[in-house]
This record gives sequence, structure tokens and C-alpha cells, in this order.
Amino acid sequence: MAERDTARRAAAARDLAALDRAVAECRACPRLVAWREEVAATKRAAFRDWEYWGRPVPGFGPADARIGVLGLAPAAHGGNRTGRIFTGDRSGDVLFAALYRAGLANQPTSVSRDDGLELRGVRIFAAVRCAPPANKPTPEERDTCAPWLHRELTLLRPTLRVVVALGSFAWAAWWAALRPVYGVSPPTPRPAFGHGATARVGRDVPVLLGSYHVSQQNTFTGRLTPAMLDEVLAQARALAKLDPGHAYGDSGDTCARMV
Ligand code: SF4
Repeated sequence: MAERDTARRAAAARDLAALDRAVAECRACPRLVAWREEVAATKRAAFRDWEYWGRPVPGFGPADARIGVLGLAPAAHGGNRTGRIFTGDRSGDVLFAALYRAGLANQPTSVSRDDGLELRGVRIFAAVRCAPPANKPTPEERDTCAPWLHRELTLLRPTLRVVVALGSFAWAAWWAALRPVYGVSPPTPRPAFGHGATARVGRDVPVLLGSYHVSQQNTFTGRLTPAMLDEVLAQARALAKLDPGHAYGDSGDTCARMV
């Protein structure tokens, strides 16, 4: 029932701006609504002066993105505080620094919604749009939130060529999107998740590219290094056919040219 309601509201969004507004108003999952608002009210001591966002966190990045970066869900004191996905937490520190090195972001840091960060060629979004306790949404919450992701992928479909799945949860969420977004059945068995793994299911469907998640659990232990993330983003750029000569950081023309 909740999933049908989410699907109806997602389908009504005619463009990404409308989708972002609609997502931010969603209250379909009682447990997650209660959790995100409780976190926003109690806060972490280091952020006691912040007015937490405390709502679902929309995707971030241009409507003509050729690369999608798919995460699990916002962090309680990251996106749930700042209102922008991966912004204000250690995972985001790693991700945005890598996007900057790859020429996909205009700056290496992401600390607040008004910090001037811009992305080119890439849009970041999550499989679940509210921060879940212990970063673990239930299967019902995952399914209820899926229509927001599916609508976002549909709106990005004209340009999207690659989806980088950060972690196995995002990798699995991709398969559920194939039928509603692309009209394609997921392969059986599903291709296994791995860092650098790729999966293609058809000419008109973006390539799926796996990456270990940028969580502290991986980056602090060395399971995921900056070099490993750079390799994945370079692979994504190549698959998406982004011209390396026209990215942020180049002298002269700083517009990302799509080919
Ligand atoms: S997780 Fe998704 S469906 Fe559930 S309340 Fe948040 S935005 Fe809505």
C-alpha cells in the first residue's frame, strides 16, 4: 500500500526538480520518519548549532548526468543534517574528494547545501532516501522507497550511461529497477557484486559498475583506498564516454563536454 502511494507520487513528478521536492515531503515509512526526526531533534553534540534537515534527502547533480552514483541511504548526521546526499560526513569526504580528482566536481569538499559544490556529468542518489537506524532499512522500507529511485532513473534515462553502485545494497537495488525503468528482466542468477565488477543487460540500459562503499568501515581499514576509487571513477568516465579534456580543473574551457 505504502509502495503504491510512493509510486503514484513519484510518477507525478515531471522533472527532477519536481521529483526532488516530492521526495523531500515523503512520510511513507513510519519508523524512518520517527528516526530521522528524532535524530534531528537530539543532534550530535558537535552539531548542536545546526538546524538539521530531518527529512528525506533528494538526489544531487545535473539532469543530463551520464554517470549515476547509487548509495544506500543518507547518514543520520550527514545528509539527514545537511539535506544533501553524502554531505557532511566521512563517507562524503572520501567520495567528493574522488569526484574532484576525477574532474566531476568543482571542489573536493562538501559540507553544506550552500557551499558552492557543483557536479558535472554525474548525479548522486540513494536507494533509500531517509536515514535508517544502524544504516539498515527493512525490506519493506527498501521496497516502499524504490519508486523514487525508479522515477529518478527514468528521468535520467536519456543521458545516463553508467551507474556506480556503492556497496552490495545499492548493487541489489539496481536489479529491482530494471523492469520498471527499462522494461528488462533482471538476469538469473544476478551478477555478483565486487569492486570493479561490471554488468550489462542490454544496449539501452546503463552499465552497472560495482565499488566498495565509501564508508569509514572500508576506508579506515584500507579495504577501499583513494586509488581504488579513482580507478572505478576513471572506468565510469570511460564507459560514459566523458571527454577527459573538458572536465573541471582543465585550463580554458571548464565545461564538461558530452560525447
Ligand atoms: S525512506 Fe523513502 S519512502 Fe520511506 S519515508 Fe523516506 S523517502 Fe519516503
